[in-house]
Amino acid sequence: MSSTEAQSTHVVVVGGGFAGVAATKQLAKHNVAVTLIDKNTYHQFQPLLYQVATAQLAQTDVMRPLRELFRHDKTVNVQNATITSVDPAANSVTTSEGSTFEGSHLILANGAQPNFFGIQGAEEHSFALYTAPDATRLRDRIIGVFEDAERNPELIDRGALTFVIVGGGATGVEIAGSLADMVSDVMPGRYHDLDVSRARVILVDRGSVVLGPFSESAHRYAATALEEKGVTLEFGRSVTAIEPGRVTFADGSEIKSHCVVWAGGLKTPMLPGTEELPHGPHGRITTGADLSVDGHPGIYAIGDTATAADSNGDPLPQLGAVALQAGEAAANSILADVTGEAPSPFKYHDKGIMAMIGRHAAVAEVGSKHHELHGPVAHAAWLGVHAWLLSSVRDRVDTFITWGWDSITHNHAPAIPDNPDKARIDWSGNEDDQFNEPNNSEVDT
Ligand SMILES: Cc1cc2nc3c(=O)[nH]c(=O)nc-3n(C[C@H](O)[C@H](O)[C@H](O)COP(=O)(O)OP(=O)(O)OC[C@H]3O[C@@H](n4cnc5c(N)ncnc54)[C@H](O)[C@@H]3O)c2cc1C
Repeated sequence: MSSTEAQSTHVVVVGGGFAGVAATKQLAKHNVAVTLIDKNTYHQFQPLLYQVATAQLAQTDVMRPLRELFRHDKTVNVQNATITSVDPAANSVTTSEGSTFEGSHLILANGAQPNFFGIQGAEEHSFALYTAPDATRLRDRIIGVFEDAERNPELIDRGALTFVIVGGGATGVEIAGSLADMVSDVMPGRYHDLDVSRARVILVDRGSVVLGPFSESAHRYAATALEEKGVTLEFGRSVTAIEPGRVTFADGSEIKSHCVVWAGGLKTPMLPGTEELPHGPHGRITTGADLSVDGHPGIYAIGDTATAADSNGDPLPQLGAVALQAGEAAANSILADVTGEAPSPFKYHDKGIMAMIGRHAAVAEVGSKHHELHGPVAHAAWLGVHAWLLSSVRDRVDTFITWGWDSITHNHAPAIPDNPDKARIDWSGNEDDQFNEPNNSEVDT
């Protein structure tokens, strides 16, 4: 790209997740001016959120300041602002404070958000796990109920130590396995006068397996691994309501719990102005082979917010590896557009799918042929892929690797609630839960 072409190009990127960061890095390599806008000042590494929630990592371990990430890239202007509308005709976006950013090209990489499917009380009274603050809030609740039960063991009968995880996908399985380890391995050493064996971790799903997208043998492996850790699996269970102190199911039955983790699915946020863009399942924006939005050649949509397709035309999963590769590919498409070359179609190099099931257990289907691995070798594959992902947003990943191996045998637990007063439950009388703040993951309806 000539310096004149670089000067006339200005790309506005919404979202500093894997997708937005990868696109911005690739454009910066070619000295293209980029305005990267995120509502947070930091990038957050979602694959490690469950480790924060179960007190194996601190919140700051999974965050990286966006300005730090681009400190050497003089053509990148990082803006901390929330985008509230998009004007597809002008390739521009407007912030909650009324500023407008217009580019020669616009990249939408604003991710997804929890989907509560309109279930009564789910957004208000469950714990989603989508952001670093979500993970801290869940950790504080877990510690808070142990403290309460230690003070008054009668509260165990009122669900104080009953943890319900809704959804048997990778997020639900990872948090259930890790929470079961925390309950059986860490808490007994901390609460000497509490019968920790009365704690229950229950994973509910309306389907009949955990880890749906994996193979049948992976379903069986994961279910057995969870049950061996003491997790109760309840299939064919549809949640109809979540209230302070209880979850209700379609058959009218209830489970008393003050800690319901929502791992029930994702949807794409519909930013005002994007209604006119083509959308696929769960609101994901539909793109062509060069990742531009169909009918809008200057606008690109990547990562969780969009539907990129594999070579068979099937939608790719919402994964870090897809987001990262799509970010680079969208940047390359823009570079080709500026120089008048034909863009190369996006081709995803499949890293496979994998899930950790607490310590000692993991399942991985590696590479494009999804070669199946279980146990320590799957754990190693998980570490390898996540170290690669992490290297896109960190200079050093050695601490992560050390944590990964140590986590097989030890549990490092900076288990100090950040906000103990907020996490406190009012147990008096009617089970009313004072922790009524909405989830940190903002959800539009
Ligand atoms: C709990 C959990 C565990 C996961 N585990 C794995 C795993 O093990 N392996 C794997 O590959 N993938 C995993 N994923 C999926 C992976 O994290 C996502 O696919 C990936 O982060 C998507 O990247 P993205 O850039 O599209 O979106 P995100 O990473 O969500 O980034 C979107 C960015 O946009 C910003 N933003 C959103 N709205 C606005 C707005 N209106 N204005 C300004 N900024 C905005 C957000 O602050 C955020 O920084 C996991 C996801 C979760 C939630």
